Amino acid sequence: MDRTSPKPQDILRSTSAARFNMRKDVSCYEFHCPKCHGPIMLPLDALERQFPDREDRPNDDFPLALVCVPCKRVDIYSPQQSSPYFDHEMLSKEWSPSGETALGAMLLCGGKGCQFRVALLETWTRGTTLQEKIDARTIWERKHLRCPYGHPIHWPWL
Ligand SMILES: [Zn+2]
Ligand SMILES: [Zn+2]
Repeated sequence: MDRTSPKPQDILRSTSAARFNMRKDVSCYEFHCPKCHGPIMLPLDALERQFPDREDRPNDDFPLALVCVPCKRVDIYSPQQSSPYFDHEMLSKEWSPSGETALGAMLLCGGKGCQFRVALLETWTRGTTLQEKIDARTIWERKHLRCPYGHPIHWPWL
């Protein structure tokens, strides 16, 4: 058999994926919302994009702010066991995302002279407008967000 010709099941898979605009599964970390315990999915490629030099500094922390889709609470999560933001129930999973996970904004600590900052990564379905994103961010629950020193994190949207 010609080694370059696709197998029937591969043809079927790519056709149905195109028809339903499905994305294939990607490797993720699954964190858990402290409020509703809902799963918070972080694709590993999004983590790598945010911290491309992660391998070179294995003892650093790599915190990210992520929103819980069901309950709209934003929390800071980290895959590093030494981090104050580490989730002890973190899992590695394959998952099919509803959109691309990308940087929404850098969130800055509101503490005087504090240099802490954390990237807010968001996953939007295709076609979400800028205004829809801003409207959503204004209702996300975020007042509990703190830097590792306990200062409140500044939220750029009212
Ligand atoms: Zn939640
Ligand atoms: Zn701070």
